[in-house]
Amino acid sequence: MNQTKYLYQMEQSVTHGNIVDIFAVDNKVAITDPVYPVYLDTNVMSGRSGNYNEEKGIYENIVYLPVTAENDFKPELPKEKVDMIYLCFPNNPTGTVLTKEDLKVWVDYAKENNSIILYDAAYEVFIEEDNIPHSIYEVEGAKDVAIEFKSYSKTAGFTGTRCAYVVIPKTVKGYTKNGEAIELNKLWNRRTCTKFNGVSYIVQRAAEATYSEEGKKQIKENIAYYKENAKIIKEGLEEAGFTVYGAINSPYIWLKVPEGMTSWEFFDKLLEEVNIVGTPGSGFGPHGEGYFRLTAFGTRENTKKAIERIKNWNK
Ligand SMILES: *Cc1c(COP(=O)(O)O)cnc(C)c1O
Repeated sequence: MNQTKYLYQMEQSVTHGNIVDIFAVDNKVAITDPVYPVYLDTNVMSGRSGNYNEEKGIYENIVYLPVTAENDFKPELPKEKVDMIYLCFPNNPTGTVLTKEDLKVWVDYAKENNSIILYDAAYEVFIEEDNIPHSIYEVEGAKDVAIEFKSYSKTAGFTGTRCAYVVIPKTVKGYTKNGEAIELNKLWNRRTCTKFNGVSYIVQRAAEATYSEEGKKQIKENIAYYKENAKIIKEGLEEAGFTVYGAINSPYIWLKVPEGMTSWEFFDKLLEEVNIVGTPGSGFGPHGEGYFRLTAFGTRENTKKAIERIKNWNK
């Protein structure tokens, strides 16, 4: 990408959370459901969510876009006009992906409706299949409507050191109430220079080192290791009779819990009977109910041990 056309800003991470600062409070937000909780929570905190409906387990002003086995984990376009759309692929928690053609539908929608796509590519490095975009900018027109978040957290283990970057093409515009176009790139730069003075130098140097020959080699080895874990978990669960999604372009394994059980009931059973901890799908949103997430971020030894236990488990 052309450096003069894009703003690469070193970030403290959680940029996908802080980005809400530059958007109006009355913007309509769409999120896929289930999803990484930060998108929803930051919009709740910044006043965009409306009231919580206890009964339905949803916020009234948020547009939820279900992604489940029924729609092959491909979100459908919202029926109403939305201003901000969060997309995360490879997805956390489902581990599923969208093709370029799938994403093009969203880019076209955003263009038609003056919406902004907030694209989280935190797991891009796990993609192995062809025709799965590593960046939304591979899709024609995306540089007019999309902001992309990248992170070193999952590629290089930066979760504790905090460093990431965001891409805001200068062609991406937001609109004021009077219809005036504003460069989001400038707005974000202003916000960041005011609220955050930069990633510490030592951490920046560490991030830089991930692009060295040795850094790239180590990352490649690490990712291959986790991908092999994902494969072991996926195949093991399938052998044990589970229906499994994700795991191919992702470190996440998204499984259907046995019929008649909730995500939390399965959590308890898995923990008590085979001493394995995972994440109940319902924690990621109402449409995560009935699913469960396992991750490949363990040692090979523990991964194998866990899968043996599940295979020998008298469910
Ligand atoms: C872990 C994760 C991140 C990482 O964010 P950082 O703030 O860079 O640590 C971003 N997006 C998703 C979907 C994640 O799962």
